Amino acid sequence: MHPTFHVITFGCQMNVSDSDWLARTLIRRGFVRSALEEAELVVLNSCSVREKPEQKVYSALGRIARATRHNAQTFVALAGCVAQQIGERIFDSFPQVRLVLGSDGLGFAPDAIERLRAEPNLRLCFTDFSDSFAERPLEIIPGSRQATAFVSIMQGCGNCCAYCIVPATRGRPRSRSAEAVLVECRVWLETGVKEITLLGQNVNAFGQDGAAGDGPGFAGLLRRVAALPGLARLRFVTPHPKDVSPQLIRAFGELEQLCPRLHLPLQAGSDRVLARMGRKYDRAHYLKLIRLLRAARPDMVFSTDIIVGFPGESEEDFRDTLGIVEEVNFMSSFSFCYSDRPGTAAERMPDKLDAQLKLERLARLQALQERLSIVWLQGRVGDESVLLLEGASRKAASRGEAWQGRDPYGVPVNTFLPVGSGSSGVLMPVRITEAKKHSLLAVSADGGLA
Ligand code: SAM
Ligand code: SF4
Repeated sequence: MHPTFHVITFGCQMNVSDSDWLARTLIRRGFVRSALEEAELVVLNSCSVREKPEQKVYSALGRIARATRHNAQTFVALAGCVAQQIGERIFDSFPQVRLVLGSDGLGFAPDAIERLRAEPNLRLCFTDFSDSFAERPLEIIPGSRQATAFVSIMQGCGNCCAYCIVPATRGRPRSRSAEAVLVECRVWLETGVKEITLLGQNVNAFGQDGAAGDGPGFAGLLRRVAALPGLARLRFVTPHPKDVSPQLIRAFGELEQLCPRLHLPLQAGSDRVLARMGRKYDRAHYLKLIRLLRAARPDMVFSTDIIVGFPGESEEDFRDTLGIVEEVNFMSSFSFCYSDRPGTAAERMPDKLDAQLKLERLARLQALQERLSIVWLQGRVGDESVLLLEGASRKAASRGEAWQGRDPYGVPVNTFLPVGSGSSGVLMPVRITEAKKHSLLAVSADGGLA
């Protein structure tokens, strides 16, 4: 009997990428994925960026305990930012948790899991930060065909945004060596991957920490990755506006593999709030970057992250945010009510906003964004584009096989293909025929498929 595992992931792309790595590693070691109820090992990869993260973890642990109560052997590995914060304390209240993997601890998981299976009374906790980028062997399942891959290029963050817990949970910035990044990208491309997304909490600060020696800066790294044979699309998340360099702007104009979509967190549109947040740019600088990027690449579109209701945010400050959102015309945004994170500078600020007011502002911002997003998506109808096919979608397909892919802007696009003709990783010219709320419909550009 093969041992079984189930993974639950909260949070950012880094967590998704970490969970994928652990799942691939376990599969290579003979584990099989299963439903939660049948799992011998449950991995819970946690996030502590926003609102009640510990409670979310505790309620997920309660759910896991109930779902697996018939199996006394089942144990839980708690990973990610909450694991980093709680550490061994979790063992006292949740006996099912036998492994704690902090931000740099994931690489120890495969061997630790083997030991825990052999020694039922053992518990292990890995919450030390490593001095340099914690390299892990790249585990690829033979024969797997995926169209896209995430590649981490740095860990941690050296900024001190007043609201943010990431520097505490993920440690100081440590860039990976450019060579290691290129080796991993090459391996993915050899398996048939066409699109790579470079990951880091402050991805365009790559190289600034000196941990990777005198390698290229971020724009230089992009050039080297873009030159790798087989790469069709290159993306990255999450950049910080203060680290967008002239070289990076030029790269958008020169590297055709670099997709014309940038997720550039704004956080607030008021200079007063940006200064209190410690973001180290102002509204004018952000708008200048948008102008320069559009000049370098006219089809460039932008998405962003915004926090509403930061301590002391006035109605006028909030209107500044609405104004800049309209001015930039973001294609989409993630917006959140400010929430206190333990130990951060904003937690100690006096002038907190009422929860109801934060929710009202969030609703106003989201209504504006929805209007902008719909207009942008509708404006795409009739456009020629290129889809990177990712997988057959689950929808019933009376008109053939339903496939989902993404366009260069990262928008999910659905299309119908003759049964058996689609393949993940294929780049397909299409014409956009319809806009849905968050996605598009398309037909093959030669009109042969509908
Ligand atoms: N490194 C990125 C940056 O500089 O924007 C993003 C990091 S954070 C993991 C993702 C998003 O969560 C942030 O962009 C911010 O909008 C949101 N966020 C972080 N801390 C928050 C807090 N205390 N309350 C509400 N939202 C928060
Ligand atoms: Fe948090 Fe700021 Fe670092 Fe982003 S740049 S992870 S918001 S501290």
